[in-house]
Amino acid sequence: MNIKNCPKCRKIFSPMVGQVICSDCIKEEEEEFEKVKGYLRENRGAGINIVSDETGVSIKKILKYLREGRLEITDEMVDFLKCEKCGISIKSGQYCRNCLEKVSKDLSSVLIKNDENNKETAKMHIRRK
Ligand SMILES: [Zn+2]
Ligand SMILES: [Zn+2]
Repeated sequence: MNIKNCPKCRKIFSPMVGQVICSDCIKEEEEEFEKVKGYLRENRGAGINIVSDETGVSIKKILKYLREGRLEITDEMVDFLKCEKCGISIKSGQYCRNCLEKVSKDLSSVLIKNDENNKETAKMHIRRK
C-alpha cells in the first residue's frame, strides 16, 4: 500500500492521487479558508494584517488563497493585494489585467518549462521508492 508522512502533522496516511497532506490537515485548511472568507464577508475593507491577526491564519496562506483565485477582494479593499509586476491594486490572481496580457504572450513557453520540471520531480519520486 502506498503510505507517506503528512508534511504538516507528520502523521502516516495513504494518499490518493495528487494528495499532499492527510485528510485531517485538508479539513483544517478548509476550516481556515472558511474563517478568512467569513471574516472578509463581515469586515469589508479590512487589511490583510488585520485579517491574519483576527483569524489566526498566516498572511502567506491568505495570499495563497488569493493567488489561486479562491478569495476575491471587494472594491472597498484597496491595496489588499498588489500586481507582482507593476504594483497596482488588484482583486485576485497574481497580475493586473495589463500585465497579464503582457505575461500571457510568454506564457506558452513558461508552461512548457513547468511541464518539464514536473516530469523531473515525478521521476525523482519514483526513484526514491
Ligand atoms: Zn496531516
Ligand atoms: Zn500590473
